[in-house]
Amino acid sequence: MAPIRKECDYLVIGGGSGGLASARRASGQWGAKTIAVESKRLGGTCVNVGCVPKKVTWNAAALAEKLHQSHSYGFSTKETAPFDWKTFVEKRAAYVKRLNGIYDKNLEKDHVEWLHGRAHLLSKNEVEVNLDDGSTQTIHAKKILLATGGHPNVPPYPGAELGITSDGFFELETQPKKVAVVGAGYIAIEMAGMFHHLGTETHLFIRHENFLRPFDPMLQEKIMAEYERQGIIVHRSSSQSKIEKHPEKKGWLNVHYKDSKGEGVLDADCLLWAIGRSPEVEDLGLDKAGVKQDQRGQIIADEYQNTNVENIYSLGDVCGKVELTPVAIAAGRKLSNRLFGGPEYKNAKLDYSNIPSVVFAHPEAGTIGLTEPEAREKYGDKNIKVYSTQFTDMYYAMMDPEEKTPSNYKLICTGPEEKIVGMHIVGNGCAEMLQGFGVAVKMGATKDDFDSCVAIHPTAAEELVTMK
Ligand SMILES: Cc1cc2nc3c(=O)[nH]c(=O)nc-3n(C[C@H](O)[C@H](O)[C@H](O)COP(=O)(O)OP(=O)(O)OC[C@H]3O[C@@H](n4cnc5c(N)ncnc54)[C@H](O)[C@@H]3O)c2cc1C
Repeated sequence: MAPIRKECDYLVIGGGSGGLASARRASGQWGAKTIAVESKRLGGTCVNVGCVPKKVTWNAAALAEKLHQSHSYGFSTKETAPFDWKTFVEKRAAYVKRLNGIYDKNLEKDHVEWLHGRAHLLSKNEVEVNLDDGSTQTIHAKKILLATGGHPNVPPYPGAELGITSDGFFELETQPKKVAVVGAGYIAIEMAGMFHHLGTETHLFIRHENFLRPFDPMLQEKIMAEYERQGIIVHRSSSQSKIEKHPEKKGWLNVHYKDSKGEGVLDADCLLWAIGRSPEVEDLGLDKAGVKQDQRGQIIADEYQNTNVENIYSLGDVCGKVELTPVAIAAGRKLSNRLFGGPEYKNAKLDYSNIPSVVFAHPEAGTIGLTEPEAREKYGDKNIKVYSTQFTDMYYAMMDPEEKTPSNYKLICTGPEEKIVGMHIVGNGCAEMLQGFGVAVKMGATKDDFDSCVAIHPTAAEELVTMK
């Protein structure tokens, strides 16, 4: 069969958060003839193997924690186990599938044609798509967006393939009894927390002394202290040398490792690598169009999402600037406004400063702006004032001392007006709390502005407007 040839104004490669947002805006709002290509499932990483199934699992883990704590309030629930992992996983998958369907309908509503296949560049204006049914289409596009996201890394040493990655986490049909999670970024920390609270014995292997290293030191220390208090076994300064199948226990592994205490072998029925992600560019044909990449293979795009090739743009995880869903969505919409929205939008671009983010650990943590070391380096010690507080959330009022998780908040201010340039919070409800405070920080709030807002009592968040 001769390959089909098509033409369009805008071709989007990647049906994840960024690609879909951009495609829908270009077509639905501005009427550009738009085609989107996705090789897996609509919604990309976030919907299928990221934010969405992660948060649902975190909710389950948080419920397990609350069930456990409820006895302090007079409830007689004794056990959180047995958690019905299989039913939970099936229901979660059905929820994700529903979302895939909604994404499909939204594309239809916005008149975006979407092709289920794998795309690669043939030149700066031409893309070949190998469709799932084995056929091929060649598309000539005036403008092309590369929004192909990333994939999790697996280390290159013997037996590493016996482990899973965050993608595999969402495919686990049975709950592991004992897991080794390797990694120190937010994905490793979140997954270790979820496993632990759902009842899996959890070993966390980190390369250095601390995890979450790009975050403020307060946040690193407090979550580490909590994880160890709760019973997660953290292997500091660790590395793995070999993974092999357990000689006797079917489905189990022997993880050979070194940590700050020496050498060891851990038997585990699940090993999860969460050691970073790489851009999904291997078969994208970037060289055919001359699109430049950085040393990590990420596509180089400027603040307007322009690559070095005039009509080719890129955004989201494949560029690796700030790897978060709302960032990819916002960049995608801004880009389509700029490309197709007329003169009013000719300078539209995403402001990458002061982007709030959250770690769904136990407890949650939220962060916006500079860490304390970054602020000291940028403004100098004498121009920085730090407010911090540690307190016990009233939620723990009925609990024994050993069950109480402290909350910690920190505000970093600069200049005589004490403008808030960093805010870091750890404790119950921090994820929801940060979104509102994020608006204030983004607007340039000062410590006085925070103080001038009357507290809501009794809440944990009131501590943020009453700090001394
Ligand atoms: C476990 C986990 C948890 C996360 N939790 C959060 C969170 O809580 N909050 C948050 O904001 N972010 C979270 N993220 C990050 C978030 O998922 C990403 O930042 C976001 O999905 C990036 O969107 P994107 O459009 O750049 O790429 P993606 O969503 O990865 O989409 C890219 C799409 O392109 C497709 N593709 C790739 N190559 C081709 C090709 N050649 N042809 C056709 N299609 C192709 C892929 O199949 C994929 O669907 C999480 C990520 C992970 C892994």
